[in-house]
Amino acid sequence: MSNVTTAEIEKAIRNVPDFPQPGIQFKDITPVLADARLFAGAMDLVTQKYTPGSVDAVVGIDARGFIFAAAAAIKLNAGFVPVRKKGKLPFQTFEQDYALEYGHATVAMHVDALKPGARVLLVDDLLATGGTSAAAVSLVQKLGGNILEAVFLIELKFLNGRQKLSGIPVRSIITY
Ligand code: AMP
Repeated sequence: MSNVTTAEIEKAIRNVPDFPQPGIQFKDITPVLADARLFAGAMDLVTQKYTPGSVDAVVGIDARGFIFAAAAAIKLNAGFVPVRKKGKLPFQTFEQDYALEYGHATVAMHVDALKPGARVLLVDDLLATGGTSAAAVSLVQKLGGNILEAVFLIELKFLNGRQKLSGIPVRSIITY
């Protein structure tokens, strides 16, 4: 276990105003990833409640969620399963639509990505309004996965994303 503190990780997260559109303050995690000690420390925090073998699959959400979910899967001796934006997965998929502030988006999973009853950790970099992760939860549940917890490096609490994940334990490492 590393001795990295959440304060150190928070300090490394870069706030980029008005990206990708005016009024949004983008939380840029690339400085955390680029620092070997901080990246490892962040992964220790994401996986700290679990021992290798206690999780069957870590499901990561397109695209930054893949980075943390893949690293968590290796630490926990679990498989990695992607939830992708529509049109990217090559085999048969289940899809789930969700609302954005303007319009909607669709995420997809391969129909055979999880064994029924699989113990799943859902991982993404950031919980904002919760629309994306709620759609991912629906897909995992459709495949028969049992979500142990949804873990986020960052949670924007003021957007109340947790409310969309009712019934799922939610944990975040850094909150704003
Ligand atoms: P949401 O569906 O609103 O919870 O949005 C979550 C997704 O959008 C996550 O996968 C994030 O990567 C991305 N996202 C939303 N807001 C931000 C933000 N302020 N900074 C960085 N990424 C964001």
